Amino acid sequence: MKNENIRLRFAPSPTGPLHIGGVRTALYNYLYAKKKGGTFILRIEDTDQTRYTEGAEAYIKDALAWLGMTFDEGPTAGGDYGPYRQSERKEMYAQYAKQLVDQNQAYYAFDTSEELEKARERAKERGEHSMKYDSSSRYEMRNSLTLSKEETTALLEKGENVTIRLKVPKDEIISFEDEVRGKVSFNSNELDDKVILKGDGMPTYHMANIVDDHLMKISHVVRGEEWLSSTAHHVLMYRFFNWTPPVFAHLPLILKPSGKGKLSKRDGAKFGFPVFPLLWESKDEDDYLGFREAGFLPESLLNFLLLLGWSSGDDVEKYTVDDMIAKFDLNRIIKSGARFDYDKAKWFNQQYIIESSSSYLLPLVKAELAKHTISREDDFVLRLIELMKERVELLPEFYSKSTFFFQRPTSYDEKGVRKKYKVENQNHFDALSHAVESLNSFTSLELEKLVKAYIENNELSFGAIFPVLRIATTGSMQGPDLFGTLELLGREEVLIRWKAFFQFVNPKG
Ligand code: GLU
Repeated sequence: MKNENIRLRFAPSPTGPLHIGGVRTALYNYLYAKKKGGTFILRIEDTDQTRYTEGAEAYIKDALAWLGMTFDEGPTAGGDYGPYRQSERKEMYAQYAKQLVDQNQAYYAFDTSEELEKARERAKERGEHSMKYDSSSRYEMRNSLTLSKEETTALLEKGENVTIRLKVPKDEIISFEDEVRGKVSFNSNELDDKVILKGDGMPTYHMANIVDDHLMKISHVVRGEEWLSSTAHHVLMYRFFNWTPPVFAHLPLILKPSGKGKLSKRDGAKFGFPVFPLLWESKDEDDYLGFREAGFLPESLLNFLLLLGWSSGDDVEKYTVDDMIAKFDLNRIIKSGARFDYDKAKWFNQQYIIESSSSYLLPLVKAELAKHTISREDDFVLRLIELMKERVELLPEFYSKSTFFFQRPTSYDEKGVRKKYKVENQNHFDALSHAVESLNSFTSLELEKLVKAYIENNELSFGAIFPVLRIATTGSMQGPDLFGTLELLGREEVLIRWKAFFQFVNPKG
């Protein structure tokens, strides 16, 4: 049943590729909206034109689409509360900023960058860490609180360097309830007078964010912990406007594999794992590989991210998306940082690969093979998938762990040959080759029957025959089921390989 009162937004800024932490934020918003029969909204927060990055919005949408997180309202989906791109809403914000000025809860500031620099120097001389534009310093600055009405009007008419700043009250405790952390309080003296409207008429994040959350009737704000202190400013603004704030839930940091410090985009390159969902090709920096290119299935990435900051309280680890929607709740989000464990991510992927139907995997594996210019019939690839499924953690391994299907061995496992091949058994290998040549139906079942019966009838051991046939076929001691491998290679190919191997180990034979 649709619940009109539950509305959650994912509000990324298109400043680059979406980090895995952002994907987790999207997921939690999506799951909660779905769970409650509510609406999931994509809002593009692009008010900071200096950080705008070409292609980032498309990347965000592609990532959400790959992961199956369809938004109900957004820049392309439309909806009753649009536009959903803040740059297209520019005109809406100024009146709210001015309302706060009229209410004496914000003020015009005209400081030039030189004046701000001077203020910073003064602060330094006083031994302060950095200059804070706040209740202690605002009366030393050039703003509508320190200038006369006439001067202010004149400067406003001139229109140079005009910003609007929030007038944060002195000596107040600002508190709010957070679904994850409980009661959170800030001393207002720690908060600066944030710019809410910039010189170019664009709102800052804080202004645009709360105006839009209000106008779009957002019921729950679920976002990363780094926004916690901004929430104090936001709560203040909600009070000034006399608006009801949404429910807040701040998600824990995602930590480096060592558990020390926040996972950064550089960690991906450093440790050799992806920290972005999709490939990001950049003009000025190195490209970043994504989970998709590393060979993850979208559902396994979702499952991994679900547990990176949330726990059901029992030890269930695997969740279908429907299970996630049923079980997810904001009050089980974990407070402490969540350690990024790539092995765990791969483990999830392996489980999902094993459980996926071969027909689902077919196009994905064909794409992997195509990267190596290999194109095979669907039937062949399906059988390859069946054989390899349990041995693969990442999709590219469907090729890298099965190259012997596409190339004859060029060398043989030396130790294996030394230990397992006995020249006195060569007559048996010759007999087996003959029997295989004339076998009626070349299937794994018949091959297995034949080889096993031969071993038993001749009182041989499996260990003397199986490993040798495997090395002869693939060059190595490891691999998927031997008889399945033989069947997939086909009789002609198997006999060619065996012949080559026995000539190699026993050239005079
Ligand atoms: N635009 C902010 C970001 O890039 C949104 C934070 C929020 O959800 O309020 O993360």
